[in-house]
Amino acid sequence: MLSVSPRRCGVAGMRSRQRMFAAVMRLLLKCLRLGRRRRFKLVRQVEQLWHYGRLCLRSLLYNSFTNSDVVLDSLFEPVYWLVDHVTRWFGVVFVALVIGLTSSIVAIVYICLLPLILQTYTPAWICWHLAYGHWNLLMIVFHYYMAITTSPGYPPQAKDDLTGVSICRKCIAPKPARTHHCSICNRCVLKMDHHCPWLNNCVGHFNHRYFFSFCLFMTMGCIYCSISGWDMFRDAYAAIERMKLLEKERLQVAANQTYYQTPPPTFTFRQRAFHKSVVYLWVLCSSVALALGALTLWHAALITRGETSIERHINKKERQRLQKKGKVFRNPYSYGSWNNWKVFLGVDVPRHWLTRVLLPSPHLPHGTGLSWDLPPCVTEQRAPLLAI
Ligand SMILES: [Zn+2]
Ligand SMILES: [Zn+2]
Repeated sequence: MLSVSPRRCGVAGMRSRQRMFAAVMRLLLKCLRLGRRRRFKLVRQVEQLWHYGRLCLRSLLYNSFTNSDVVLDSLFEPVYWLVDHVTRWFGVVFVALVIGLTSSIVAIVYICLLPLILQTYTPAWICWHLAYGHWNLLMIVFHYYMAITTSPGYPPQAKDDLTGVSICRKCIAPKPARTHHCSICNRCVLKMDHHCPWLNNCVGHFNHRYFFSFCLFMTMGCIYCSISGWDMFRDAYAAIERMKLLEKERLQVAANQTYYQTPPPTFTFRQRAFHKSVVYLWVLCSSVALALGALTLWHAALITRGETSIERHINKKERQRLQKKGKVFRNPYSYGSWNNWKVFLGVDVPRHWLTRVLLPSPHLPHGTGLSWDLPPCVTEQRAPLLAI
């Protein structure tokens, strides 16, 4: 029998443990090296995917004109879509509202105020109120009717007839100077100013004058009603307050029958309707005069500068851009403040101030809206126009 000494056994065991430890360490290091390689590979793949995605996105969206405005517009696109659709479908409701409210004011004037004016005013004042009131009403009705029924003007469908200066992204068709796409009408409009929900129509080259004249005469009518009805409004307001007080007293007497008090006199239905109508007329007219007056002033300022509402924004940006370069921007469609008004109103000779401005006139504006030549009424000769 072989006998192995315990010392030898101990040495052999220690060596095998060392070998095993070294093998485990080698395996561990190998795993770590492998893991690091895989990790690097994964990071590289993610980086490649990120770069590829970014390139795809940029190639799809990149445009040299892209700026913060375009990004904001894109973000608000769902809101615009909703507003466009609501405006399109509610246009008829808005028109009905304008007709309904105006008719109610006219009815109150004829039923409640006119008999009072005829009974109490002097003949001179009666003549003034009858003449001015009816002229103003005629101008409001004529210009509103023309503004809603006149087409603002569209570029021709046949593309050969047109010398467009740009292409409409929505219509994929040439767009003449000053023409813009209306997302509510879903077509291009010549010299577009804005889409007016109160007209359920776009305001463009052929109905811009009707729109402005309507705003002006409506504001004048509301101011006229507010000023001439001020005393009546104060009386009617005081009467309504008295009416409320008497109603309160009457209820108290009815609740406490033991006192046998005489009930206070009550207002008749006719009196109540009269006072409430006068208050309604004054509140509505003064509110419209303020709101529409501000809008009319804004449009008057634009007409003086020879700009539309849309061009106001375009020209402002262009002015700032050129200012940075040390240049001065000149609006190619402005002929000077006075001439701009003459061109806008279609005043060629002095008598047109009476026949075309102070009386209802269906005359057409200067030009076709496709090209912008110098109007004949503009005496000042200028350099050939440039289109934006
Ligand atoms: Zn278009
Ligand atoms: Zn429109």
